Amino acid sequence: RENAEKFEFQAEVGRLMDIIINSLYSNKDIFLRELISNASDALDKIRFMSLTDPGLLGEGDAAELDIRISIDKENKVLKLRDRGIGMTKDNLIQNLGTIAKSGTSAFLEQMQKSGDMNLIGQFGVGFYSVYLVADYIEVISKHNDDKQWIWESKADGNFAISEDTEGEDLQRGTQINIYLKDDCVEYLEEDKLKELVTKYSEFINFPIYLYGSKEVSKEVPIEDDEDDEEAEDEEAEGEEEEEEEDDMDVEDDEESEDDEPTTKTVKETVYDWELLNDTKAIWLRSSSEVTEEEYHKFYKALTKSEEEPMAYSHFKAEGDVEFKSVLFIPAKAEAGMFDNYYSNNAALKLYVRRVFISDEFDELVPKYLSFLKGLVDSDTLPLNVSREMLQQHSSLKTIKKKLVRKALDMIRKLAEEDKDDEEEKEDSDSEAEAADESKEDGESAYDKFWKEFGKAIKLGIIEDSSNRTRLSKLLRFQTSKSDGKFISLDEYVSNMKKDQKQIYYLAGASMEEVSKSPFLEKLIKKDLEVIYFTDPIDEYVMQNLTEFDDYKFANASKEDLKFGDKDDEEKKREKETKEEFKDLTKWWKTLLGADEVEAVKISNRLSTTPCVVVTSKYGWSANMERIMKSQAL
Ligand code: ADP
Ligand code: MG
Repeated sequence: RENAEKFEFQAEVGRLMDIIINSLYSNKDIFLRELISNASDALDKIRFMSLTDPGLLGEGDAAELDIRISIDKENKVLKLRDRGIGMTKDNLIQNLGTIAKSGTSAFLEQMQKSGDMNLIGQFGVGFYSVYLVADYIEVISKHNDDKQWIWESKADGNFAISEDTEGEDLQRGTQINIYLKDDCVEYLEEDKLKELVTKYSEFINFPIYLYGSKEVSKEVPIEDDEDDEEAEDEEAEGEEEEEEEDDMDVEDDEESEDDEPTTKTVKETVYDWELLNDTKAIWLRSSSEVTEEEYHKFYKALTKSEEEPMAYSHFKAEGDVEFKSVLFIPAKAEAGMFDNYYSNNAALKLYVRRVFISDEFDELVPKYLSFLKGLVDSDTLPLNVSREMLQQHSSLKTIKKKLVRKALDMIRKLAEEDKDDEEEKEDSDSEAEAADESKEDGESAYDKFWKEFGKAIKLGIIEDSSNRTRLSKLLRFQTSKSDGKFISLDEYVSNMKKDQKQIYYLAGASMEEVSKSPFLEKLIKKDLEVIYFTDPIDEYVMQNLTEFDDYKFANASKEDLKFGDKDDEEKKREKETKEEFKDLTKWWKTLLGADEVEAVKISNRLSTTPCVVVTSKYGWSANMERIMKSQAL
């Protein structure tokens, strides 16, 4: 366009576009999902803003919050239009080209590794996927605060912006004109577009229309002059008015009584807006009516991914605080999730009475559960208040509490299902075949959960004192007797010796180190089971978890370790030995000095190793010292 202002893409963005436009990636379909998702976001924004200022929506057509797709076959242009918030000139410049987003380089890196374009939406650069199918696009946009602008680019490192003085007045919103590449004309086919909208955009909460054609039957009077009839047919094709479906039911037979029929049935093509999606939100339906497949599809749409969730939970809270929620455990923890634990602000999506409010509201669940995906739709929270007021709203506490309970229930059920499966296998051979497919690789559902999210449970024990007992039941660990298997505290307790009064554990840097530790000698000799902890966080967990099922935890590396079965004979012998070696221990203590050791004592805890350095009852264990040292670096 003449008079257009020219801009250069931010370098990283330019590189990304270059890669996309030249990509041979076969799943080009995803571009439509990304554009519809942007349209939906823009509609969410204007709807949210209109809560406090209804005038923003405008009147008539402009107030219709929908998405419309149309096709220009002749020029090979696919058009997508939304009535969302729109973009000002500055928005266009920044959002579509000049602002460096952290996701850009992260996505480039990820793509180099996996070659997978599909995740583009997760990196906040989904818009550019349109260049998979187009070599030129126009974005025409009208924001309430600005004039109507056209953004255009051939993905050649530059884009241009000019005022739109000739085009149709959008009133508000954005229209994208996609000039398809020659090998992408399949996206001009209605059937293809319908298939994609159903596949990718089923859960968009705004109506999506396609301007499509429909064959309808029509009764037309029989005229003598054949030419006239043809002319009329052509005219009808151009018409846009809707045809009543009933017309199709009219039977020719009725006229057979008449010897000379005066009308006949002809097929004709009419064009109209066709609604492609069902906008009833999945969480508003009763969970008994929604199939597992639908939840999985919903998860994929929600996370812009192709993977299936590990588990889901859909529930309704009633009473003083009412809300509906769907929660998912992803199949995998996000890379680096626990490294950036405190700066990570992943959040569930928050809706208030069907209106999308935010996906950055991270006060809904405690930090340790931030790996959950899903949404909350509250009936109790007020609609038109600031975020600060929402944060302080009294029902938020109740929502949070209930969400945590439900999430922990969902996790507990994963473990219980495993147990049921095992029992089933033992019970009957005939059912063994029906056992879950996920167990083919020998890993149970809970094993998988533990591997991905075990750390979250541990963080929960440290941070969430009110759910500590519930969380401790979800802990898994290896022990001196578990033979490489991960067991729970319940299992440990049920395997305890008759007179055992404590739960023994030992923490260290590796399985190798703990399993060979001299601290274990006596315990193993007495056939007592010892829990092995090898994750640095375990020491912190054990500082917060002092007992389970009324049994105290005992750190095998500490000084006061008791075995709970000393008889009088033994006590007498111990006393005698102490007396006998008094001089030796005294000499040793003087030799090492107060800086090196606190005390030198005779101990009953070793069986083959002659001596061992232990930690005092209240001091840090050697492992904890190691952890603190490594953190200080
Ligand atoms: P993301 O959607 O993750 O932010 P995209 O690359 O898909 O990343 O979009 C970039 C930005 O462009 C959006 O955040 C939004 O500000 C703007 N945008 C894209 N499409 C539209 C649209 N249809 N209406 C309004 N703004 C849009
Ligand atoms: Mg997007």
